Amino acid sequence: MSYKSDIQIAREAKKQPIMQIGNALGIPAEDLLPYGHDKAKVSQKFINSVKDRPDGKLILVTAINPTPAGEGKTTTTVGLGDGLNRIGKKAMICIREASLGPNFGMKGGAAGGGYAQIVPMEEMNLHFTGDFHAITSAHSLLSAMIDNHIYWGNEQDIDIRRVVWRRVVDMNDRALRQITCSLGGVANGFPREAGFDITVASEVMAILCLANDLKDLEKRLGDMIVAYRRDRSPVYCRDIGAEGAMTVLLKDAMQPNLVQTLENNPAFVHGGPFANIAHGCNSVIATTTALKLADYVVTEAGFGADLGAEKFMNIKCRKAGLAPSVVVCVATVRAMKMNGGVAKADLGAESVEAVKKGCPNLGRHIENLKSFGVPVVVAINHFVTDTEAEIQAVKDYVAGQGAVAVLSRHWELGSEGSEELARKVAEIAEAGQANFAPIYPDEMSLADKIQTICKRIYRADEALMDKKIRDQLKLWEEQGYGHLPVCMAKTQYSFSTDPNLRGAPTGHSVPVREVRLSAGAGFVVVVCGEIMTMPGLPRQPSALSIRLNDDGQIEGLF
Ligand code: ADP
Ligand code: MG
Repeated sequence: MSYKSDIQIAREAKKQPIMQIGNALGIPAEDLLPYGHDKAKVSQKFINSVKDRPDGKLILVTAINPTPAGEGKTTTTVGLGDGLNRIGKKAMICIREASLGPNFGMKGGAAGGGYAQIVPMEEMNLHFTGDFHAITSAHSLLSAMIDNHIYWGNEQDIDIRRVVWRRVVDMNDRALRQITCSLGGVANGFPREAGFDITVASEVMAILCLANDLKDLEKRLGDMIVAYRRDRSPVYCRDIGAEGAMTVLLKDAMQPNLVQTLENNPAFVHGGPFANIAHGCNSVIATTTALKLADYVVTEAGFGADLGAEKFMNIKCRKAGLAPSVVVCVATVRAMKMNGGVAKADLGAESVEAVKKGCPNLGRHIENLKSFGVPVVVAINHFVTDTEAEIQAVKDYVAGQGAVAVLSRHWELGSEGSEELARKVAEIAEAGQANFAPIYPDEMSLADKIQTICKRIYRADEALMDKKIRDQLKLWEEQGYGHLPVCMAKTQYSFSTDPNLRGAPTGHSVPVREVRLSAGAGFVVVVCGEIMTMPGLPRQPSALSIRLNDDGQIEGLF
């Protein structure tokens, strides 16, 4: 049997006009700002007007450590949202927007898959409503203003060797990682080393996703550190005076984008911060607004639960005052097998033994998630190659962990396939068992926060921090940043810092290579291992097969 590609399915969608989707949510027409027929932004006036309504229940979708194929978190988020609507609940979905550049490399789409997708998927994966272009522009304005400030006399006394504000572009372009700018003589300024990151890695993106409103956005932009003086004192964005104009550029990008699923259920697709040097979930403004409009809001955090869910809980929920009612941990038989040592090429063959061997990875995520005081449901995202015996092995294992695993076939069947998952999730959310709390208090020292995550979530013996790093953390505490949460950046493939160490390793330690202060976003980034803020393209980029066909339709976008 052959299956349709994601884009074929998306193309056949029977979309409703977006005004109709909005009206069903109770958003008046004048508060829906349409971008074409199938996308609309929601006005700030409307967002303000629902602030006092009671909140619906928040459901986080996370996953085990991913295998290189991606385990279907977004697909399951969409499938579960559709499933909840199918069983008569009023549910909304909140996910991230896609970064444009990686689509031309090798990444899959960001709109879900199979019969659990958000549409219009082509636009969502490309320019969408222009939010990321606005972020690129705002970021670039500050870049330009910094060099301009230096050019016209450098009143702030910026040490041009210590400009930490880089440039961004939404493209995978390794040639720009490290550059020399301002070459070409006196009229072009002072030559210095610089470099580009991909737009989603911009602190502006993280801020847009954490800010409560435009005032908060402007304040946080002003708080960003852009450079240091010779005496090592920080120069802020506000010293350059860019935050006002940047806020103007971001005014529309701050408003959540309303779209729909293949089954015409409402979704906010808004924001897309990196899941390593940032917190990796959709915007606070979209999530908090959705909670006012629906009884259930299903949202996703990037990477596996050790990174994405941890940051969702310790950063986003803490800062936005959110509390999930239940967490859905996505697992696949394939990923269990990979964690059990099977190579990617051999995943097709049944191996109950390998599934069992890989399950401790899932078990540890369940335990970790429970330690935030939130009940866990495991969603087995069904692949048509899974065998009965393999599925049963996962179910048995999860039952032994005091949780329940539900097989879900949303990818193949849409909400018909996720009904059982939806019922289980709704039942647990309604039971009100959650007693959410972040796993460390604001008052804990930055070094202890890092140790807490390494020991309690990664199950490492310790985090290794040399004197330079400990001194840096102490200095930030003295400067008033000690209350900030920490944002861990490590490999998504393992609990440890070794991507090849799958399963549930113990006895490892976590070397901290570098710490960075994101003073505007409001967290301290803790870099453990290599992290890439500007990806490159592979030898055979998917751009080679992306084209318009004779009907003007996009081909090759998954
Ligand atoms: P994640 O959010 O975890 O990165 P996605 O939901 O985006 O993963 O899915 C990644 C890719 O895997 C998508 O192209 C999707 O179509 C595919 N996929 C997801 N679930 C299934 C499934 N059950 N069967 C086959 N393919 C799937
Ligand atoms: Mg995803």
